[in-house]
Amino acid sequence: MIVAEAKPLEELLACLEESRRALIVSCSGCTAVCLTGGAAQATSLASRLKIAKRINGSDLDVETASLLRQCEPELLPAIADRCARADVLISLACGVGVQQLAEAYPDKWIIPALNTTFAGSYAGEGVWEERCGLCGNCVLHLTGGVCPVTRCAKGLLNGPCG
Ligand code: SF4
Ligand code: SF4
Repeated sequence: MIVAEAKPLEELLACLEESRRALIVSCSGCTAVCLTGGAAQATSLASRLKIAKRINGSDLDVETASLLRQCEPELLPAIADRCARADVLISLACGVGVQQLAEAYPDKWIIPALNTTFAGSYAGEGVWEERCGLCGNCVLHLTGGVCPVTRCAKGLLNGPCG
């Protein structure tokens, strides 16, 4: 799955200085599974943004909306009404979902709330290991099922280095 981690709240607040009405769009796909981008995280982020803005002396109206997968264009019109009410959209998907949202709603400013980091696998609660660098030329049949691109520190394909 695609693994992504939350951006610092301060980074999002800096983007929201002029905004009065934001919509946080979560994704029930990969980022929900890695506990950074699902509906629960959207609710939590909405509360933290509202409190932080209030402490800074301004108000931010924040709604949330959830998509099954933000990377599927045919699912995006379902939130059109809520997008229309917002002056900024905050995406809790990976970079693919952020770009789909931007294409679907070109008149809105889209802020990515996550940093997409790698394609990985579960390695314990809240822990994900990088397992694929999306190289486009898979050689796992030659390497005993171990990805040399992500699991060799130098990304070597031709055996161990010194
Ligand atoms: S938008 Fe990204 S995080 Fe959401 S399902 Fe698609 S690939 Fe996974
Ligand atoms: S070799 Fe590694 S990086 Fe390339 S496709 Fe296969 S698993 Fe992914």
